[in-house]
Amino acid sequence: MGLKLSKEDFDACLAQLSADYDIYAPVRMAGGNPFSDTDCIRYGKIESIEEVIFEEKSNYSYKEVLLPLSETLFYFTENQVKEADGKEKGGIIFLRSCDLHAVKRMDDIYLENGFEDYYYKRLREKVKFVLMGCKESFENCFCVSMNTNACSDYDLAVEPAEDGYLLDCKADAWQDIFAATGEPTAYEPSCVKENSVKVSIPDSLTAEVAKSEMWREYDGRCVNCGRCNFACPTCTCFTMQDIFYTDNGKAGERRRVQASCMVDGFTDVAGGGCYRSKNGDRMRFKVLHKVLDYKQRFGYHMCVGCGRCDDICPEYISFSGIVNKLAQAVTEVETDE
Ligand code: SF4
Ligand code: SF4
Repeated sequence: MGLKLSKEDFDACLAQLSADYDIYAPVRMAGGNPFSDTDCIRYGKIESIEEVIFEEKSNYSYKEVLLPLSETLFYFTENQVKEADGKEKGGIIFLRSCDLHAVKRMDDIYLENGFEDYYYKRLREKVKFVLMGCKESFENCFCVSMNTNACSDYDLAVEPAEDGYLLDCKADAWQDIFAATGEPTAYEPSCVKENSVKVSIPDSLTAEVAKSEMWREYDGRCVNCGRCNFACPTCTCFTMQDIFYTDNGKAGERRRVQASCMVDGFTDVAGGGCYRSKNGDRMRFKVLHKVLDYKQRFGYHMCVGCGRCDDICPEYISFSGIVNKLAQAVTEVETDE
């Protein structure tokens, strides 16, 4: 059984929750889009449910909260190190089904891949998720193909309705807050049943497809800007950055900053070597990581089909289009052998 709340009652519930949580959701940032004179939808703190953008896809994902672009890990002086303080409050993150599936990918990488990342874990343990139901597919989404269009693993689900909001609360600790305020009503979170974009990943896909000529197209088309990685909710690579407060380099802070496998420098090694200098080779690595080798390790595909990489690419390169070329490439490679 779900609940229906007026906007005022929902905001009163958020006000109660804000005593213990910072609440993040996709919000409109005027003029913030990389394409000129357009707004950007990205994650920010909210106080009212009216600030949440339900009717458009966010350009960036929940990753902005769980894995910030730049995060100070510790401070150092000549003979002392002090760990950076964690957030005092917990976090509540509004997100869509595909992104909630992406959280599982991030958890597996940061908590189940042979080590537990201390900084990720201390934040992750304090985070709860609010599912935003999707009534219809957005441009470039292919969540149905990736089986991420529906999700039941949420603390709260919500979507706008006439004269208020429909919701389903699963978090025991929040029952008193929402059930005491809402009017019982039938509600199941909406989920997309069909996307206009569909992808098909060949069952016979192996690393042999790396030999295909298809990757050469991207040597010239891709400009290795890395936008696709930063917009992707499942890209989790980072690098380290030391900021020095003094000229002698003995006091400062170490930050973890997001990294991109598409940009120059990512595969540089000592002695001046570079494992993937051609942009097409970087594309091959990224695509096969998303739809081949991650699955070999974890049993399911990394890509969740959110389509943000296609939305944001300045060269109009389509990730779903590349995935749909793999079947032909597999056949060509098999024929050549
Ligand atoms: S690869 Fe593209 S479609 Fe897949 S999860 Fe990342 S941004 Fe979304
Ligand atoms: S695929 Fe597009 S967004 Fe990604 S690095 Fe290349 S040009 Fe940039």
